[in-house]
Amino acid sequence: MAGLEVKDLSKTFRLRSGLRSVALEAVKHVSFTLDPGRTVALVGQSGSGKSTVARIIAQLESPTAGDILLDGKSFGRHGRALREYRDDVQMIFQDPFASLNPFHTIEHHLARPLQLHGKAKGREQVRAKVVELLQRVNLEPAADFVDRRPHELSGGQRQRVAIARALAPGPRILIADEPVSMLDVSIRLGVLNLLARLQREENLCVLYITHDLATARHFSDEILVMYRGEVVERGPADDVILRPQADFTKLLAAAAPEPSRHERFTSVSSRYAQAEAVHRTSSHPAMQAENTPPRSDS
Ligand code: ADP
Ligand code: MG
Repeated sequence: MAGLEVKDLSKTFRLRSGLRSVALEAVKHVSFTLDPGRTVALVGQSGSGKSTVARIIAQLESPTAGDILLDGKSFGRHGRALREYRDDVQMIFQDPFASLNPFHTIEHHLARPLQLHGKAKGREQVRAKVVELLQRVNLEPAADFVDRRPHELSGGQRQRVAIARALAPGPRILIADEPVSMLDVSIRLGVLNLLARLQREENLCVLYITHDLATARHFSDEILVMYRGEVVERGPADDVILRPQADFTKLLAAAAPEPSRHERFTSVSSRYAQAEAVHRTSSHPAMQAENTPPRSDS
């Protein structure tokens, strides 16, 4: 099969607590496939294991158990095999400030992956490809951006540079980990629309990670809801939102009556807090198995 398959993925972190070592099961038996031209959303509150799944797919972290198959095959984790894997699988991070180097120009950020992955050689060719990448993410006129540094750009522009950088190796699979949650509410939709257009035009497989049910529904074909490391619900986007089966998703969906677009983006964390609070006091056994508090940041 063409695409990426995540099979029965688990990750346990060992944490030291005084003299004891405590096991934290961040991801438990997660499986899904990413197919060309489709977007899968991974939705869940902070600490539910979303980024860990993303980081394992991007090979920034190794799984405790399970497999990741690209076009039906497993792959090496080092050297050339890793570089070839990254030709195909690229990640966009939450914070465009942290992911770009303040000392380097925009051209440098985009030239490096082009050269590293053998997509352009020589000054002229590299510059032409850099300009093309900037145009693809709507940073125009591109000539206005090449020589600037990240701090001279707005948050949205920086995230577009990060997207252009992810596109540079010519990937077929994009992992976007909360790509707009650090951005101003007013520019989020623009960046998400850009990702949607790129996905359509280039037939990409996209994993869209978010804590926001509304954009998950709008921008994805399939939704997986994670709760404390486990996928508690999955299905076509509309089904999951309109006809949720799992208690947690029901609470989440019910806690959001039909807010305005603006409110949809801002009230998410309180919605999770509400759902979680009801959940903790409810008698659902699967949800009472554990009592690790979720991290407060994301
Ligand atoms: P999310 O992205 O859904 O907010 P994460 O995948 O970042 O969740 O985290 C899942 C859980 O794993 C959290 O409890 C978090 O504290 C823990 N965790 C994540 N990365 C590490 C790490 N490198 N070492 C120890 N614990 C971690
Ligand atoms: Mg995260």
